[in-house]
Amino acid sequence: MNIAIVGAAGRMGGRLIHAVLEAEGLELTGAIERPGHPQLGMDAGLIAGAGELGVKISDDLAATLAGADLLIDFTFPDVTLKNLAVCAELGKMVVSGSTGFTPEQRADAEKYAEKIPVVLAPNMSVGVNACFKLLKEAAKILGDDFDVEIVELHHNKKKDSPSGTAVRMGEVVADSLGRDYNQVANYHREGMCGARTHAEIGMQSVRGGDIVGEHTVYVIGMGERIEISHRAMSRDMFARGAARACKWLQGKAPGIYDMQDVLNLK
Ligand code: NAD
Repeated sequence: MNIAIVGAAGRMGGRLIHAVLEAEGLELTGAIERPGHPQLGMDAGLIAGAGELGVKISDDLAATLAGADLLIDFTFPDVTLKNLAVCAELGKMVVSGSTGFTPEQRADAEKYAEKIPVVLAPNMSVGVNACFKLLKEAAKILGDDFDVEIVELHHNKKKDSPSGTAVRMGEVVADSLGRDYNQVANYHREGMCGARTHAEIGMQSVRGGDIVGEHTVYVIGMGERIEISHRAMSRDMFARGAARACKWLQGKAPGIYDMQDVLNLK
C-alpha cells in the first residue's frame, strides 16, 4: 500500500514516517506540509531522523496523492476536513488521528466518508482502546451509585482541551450509563458552583512540559474508588496503531471507522 503523510514535519508526522517504514506492506510515497512550512522541499526521511528516503515534503496534496492509496493525517480538524474533501474527490482512503472535532465537524467528516473508507480515531493506541472497553464494562457493573471524574495530562503545546481521548472516555461511560455525554459533561467548576450533580461527568485538563498523554478515569463511590489509568510513554504506539489501521482499511467499504473496529473490540 502506498502511503502519503500530511503534517509530515510535525511531532506525530516524524513518528508516523518511522512506523510506515517499519510496517510490512506499507510504503511511504508522499509527505505533505502546510504552505510556507520551512521544511518544504526537504527529504521527509531526513527530517524524521530516518535517513534519506527520496520523498520530498510538498504542499501540493492532490499531486502527492496521485502516487498514494491512502493518506495518514495527524493535523487539526479544519485541515483534516479540507484533506477529506480532496481524498473523497480522488477516491483515496484516509486514516486520521486529528483531535478536537466539534459535533458539526464530525458530521462533515461522516459526509466525506460516504465516498471513501476512513478511520477517524482520537487515540490510536491499543492500550487506550482496551481501556475504552474496560470503562464500558466498569460503568455497567457500577451503575448510577458511583460518581465519574476524568483527568487528563498533556504537553504544553497541545491545542485542544479536554483531549479527544478524554472526551471519548466520557462518551463511553455516558453511553454505558444511558446518559447523553454532551448534557452531562462538566468542564468548569469555580466559586460557589454548588455540589456536583449526580449525573455529571467532571472533565479536567492539566498541561505542562513534555507529557505525551495520561488519562485517569475515577469512579468514586461511598467508601471506595476505582481508577482506570493509561500512560503513554512515547508517541510511537500511536503511530504503530495508525499503521495497523492502514492495513485493516484495505478493501473496506466507504464509511467512518474507529480503532474499536480496527482492533475488533465491538
Ligand atoms: P504538531 O503541531 O507537531 O503537527 C501538526 C503538523 O501539521 C505540523 O507540522 C503542521 O505544520 C502541519 N499542518 C498544519 N496545517 C497544515 C495544512 N494546512 N496542511 C498540511 N500540514 C499542516 O502536532 P502533533 O502533536 O503531531 O499532533 C497533531 C494532531 O494529532 C493533533 O490533532 C493531536 O491531538 C493528534 N494526536 C492524535 C493521536 C492519536 O492517537 N489519534 C496521538 C497524538 C496526537
